Amino acid sequence: MTIRLLILGVISAATVVLGMCAQAQAARPVQTFETAAGPVKITPIYHASLMIEAGGKTIYVDPAKPANFDGLPHADLILITDIHGDHMDPNSIAAVSKSGTEIFAPPAVVATVTTASPISNGESKNWNGWNIEAIPMYNIKHGPAPGQLYHPKGRGNGYVLTYGGKRFYFSGDTEGIPEMRALKDIDVAFICMNLPYTMTPDEAADAVKAFHPKIAIPYHYRGSDISIFKKDLEGTGIEVRLLDWYPKAP
Ligand code: ZN
Repeated sequence: MTIRLLILGVISAATVVLGMCAQAQAARPVQTFETAAGPVKITPIYHASLMIEAGGKTIYVDPAKPANFDGLPHADLILITDIHGDHMDPNSIAAVSKSGTEIFAPPAVVATVTTASPISNGESKNWNGWNIEAIPMYNIKHGPAPGQLYHPKGRGNGYVLTYGGKRFYFSGDTEGIPEMRALKDIDVAFICMNLPYTMTPDEAADAVKAFHPKIAIPYHYRGSDISIFKKDLEGTGIEVRLLDWYPKAP
């Protein structure tokens, strides 16, 4: 009798925990995009951290604190954009990793995350049906002091990921650089906007107009008014999706 009660107790506790996980999942504004190779699901997690699921594989971009990865699948691939703590976080990398997880990162990140494979600006890799292209990301004018930039050219990577004919762009920390403005055929663009590190919503909208993705989604926007970005792009034909990338801790 006691054992039976104990088992019932464990089952009901497990049900509650599973229910909480399901709630946390459901609360995330998951975006699903149809491609020729099947759906691509992109889950905003926190700030610059996000998860991509397609073809039975899971990719994380910039898993970093204070994002909560409880209840989420482990990574088959992790992409890292830069060395700063909101992008490169060894503890979060460990939290989402399993045996066989691959990591692609710029050489400046590989210096710390030594298990990662280097990929530099302009290089690309094929991985399980994905083409992964490293795009420059850097400041033109914003820096901590005169003559310095938060993100010097060549250190970090944005990424263009192609799957089933659809092209997804993740800007990393950047201003509206010529390499962004020259992008072609982007279906979905995730664009940073926050001062002092990257750019304003107005500057981001100006750059996005230049390469005209079908859909633009602000991310890495802490402290910025993203409604300005949406208003700037009204009438351009670019669909802007404003998602909550800063969920309160449960
Ligand atoms: Zn950042």
